[in-house]
Amino acid sequence: MVGIFQEIEGYGHEQVVFVQDKNVGLKAIIGIHNTTLGPGLGGCRMWPYADESEALRDVLRLSRGMTYKAAVAGLKLGGGKAVIIGDSRREKTPELLAAFGKAVERLGGRYITAEDVGMTVKDIDLIRTQTRFAVGGSNEGGSGDPSIMTAFGVFQGMKAALKFAGLGEELNDVRVAVQGLGNVGYHLCSYLSAAGAKLMVTDIYPAQIERVVQEFGATPVAPDEIYGLTCEVFAPCALGAILNTRTIPQLRCKVIAGAANNQLEKESDGFELLKRGIVCAPDYAINGGGLINVADELDGYNKERVLAKVTKIYDTIDSILTWSDREGIPPHVAADRLAERRLLDARLKSVDCCGARGS
Ligand code: NAD
Repeated sequence: MVGIFQEIEGYGHEQVVFVQDKNVGLKAIIGIHNTTLGPGLGGCRMWPYADESEALRDVLRLSRGMTYKAAVAGLKLGGGKAVIIGDSRREKTPELLAAFGKAVERLGGRYITAEDVGMTVKDIDLIRTQTRFAVGGSNEGGSGDPSIMTAFGVFQGMKAALKFAGLGEELNDVRVAVQGLGNVGYHLCSYLSAAGAKLMVTDIYPAQIERVVQEFGATPVAPDEIYGLTCEVFAPCALGAILNTRTIPQLRCKVIAGAANNQLEKESDGFELLKRGIVCAPDYAINGGGLINVADELDGYNKERVLAKVTKIYDTIDSILTWSDREGIPPHVAADRLAERRLLDARLKSVDCCGARGS
């Protein structure tokens, strides 16, 4: 069996905190991956994990992902995430949330929590009664639904990717296949429709499809048909791991630009897309709008400032794609390098300013 320290070492975390409160049934793990750029910000997920090692692996993976996402978004934030082990529908109580809030407070701001799977805005409100370090509640100055800004960022990044692919950045008459019409997918369709794009859409719930067909004149297709559509852009906005050895050979698009997290099933899938000449905007770089939105609460939420920052996702995607082209590496590798360079620069700066370099 792999030991806990061995497991953690592989991910490079600064701190992993195990929280237990038997009285209220709380079992949580908080992962603080890297605070070089600032405190670790990331949602708290409540999920009925099969066992504790599954929960540990999830928090380690997710919190590391947040370090990269914040760095690429140019935020002064690090990577953190929390998981609460349990079924949110049956086991979530006000007492459990309060105990979690207290645990977050005890970390003194090294970790800032927010909403994730199994948690709601109301839950964040409750957590906020116990800690100063929670964002995304319904309080005055709260940032509200992040998915609108996520969709706006994807829209910006999509334009950059289209231009990079030699198709120009105008979306008028551009065919976009959208997979998943939930919070982000719906708002993305709204931006795309206003820009004159031709939408082809799918979801596993007919009601979600019907809404965008009615509102934006989209063409519906069956879930499995979305991959093989001849189009300029494929926009995955549903689940992860949908770019894999089964789906990639079906693709007839020039660009992939969507909100879903962890779109590549394996590293090698990114190399396969490069080989096929499909321009793929890295997921955590293009879907950072929601994080930018919620992080802005820390400076006193200002929508204009958020819009300006999210608009810059265009430049971020452009730089990543240009870098990937120059180096002959897939865009997801270029995005990782950009994040790592920012972390290294910040580390060198902090060593510099403390006068410790060379000592
Ligand atoms: P959501 O749950 O509101 O929407 C997802 C939609 O995908 C649902 O309508 C669901 O029915 C549909 N779906 C599920 N499986 C499908 C399949 N096989 N084929 C077609 N449709 C399918 O989620 P969301 O908030 O819109 O997020 C979408 C994706 O973007 C997720 O991967 C999420 O992690 C990621 N993301 C979201 C945000 C945000 O601000 N909400 C930010 C960053 C990343």
